[in-house]
Amino acid sequence: MPQQPLAQVPSDAQWHWQEHGACQEADPLLFFHPQNERGSSRARRDRAAKTVCASCSVRMECADYAVRAREPYGVWGGLSEEDREHIYARLDSRHYPRARGEGLRAVGVDAIDAAVSPRALGIA
Ligand code: SF4
Repeated sequence: MPQQPLAQVPSDAQWHWQEHGACQEADPLLFFHPQNERGSSRARRDRAAKTVCASCSVRMECADYAVRAREPYGVWGGLSEEDREHIYARLDSRHYPRARGEGLRAVGVDAIDAAVSPRALGIA
């Protein structure tokens, strides 16, 4: 995974959106894979985390932050680590999202919706 120099990590002085996350009531272990978790158990846990994100009122703020910060681990804004890897692979240093909202432009809101669609969650 491309690494982001620390100086570029968005500071996001305003973290109020996190206080409204649907995950405040969820098990944090749902959002971060244990070491060596692979295959179907990882897919099931990711889907369960995405299901929480699907009903979250701050999903877009969360996804925007995660893409700009290049969060390496966990499900953020309905995007798994693999989802974000695909996004990072499309970015280069000239198109590096830094300002608020630029993460959403890099991802495409449709991609976030698709990540938490009933089909992606296996409930369609
Ligand atoms: S989008 Fe998901 S990870 Fe982000 S705050 Fe909401 S529930 Fe938590």
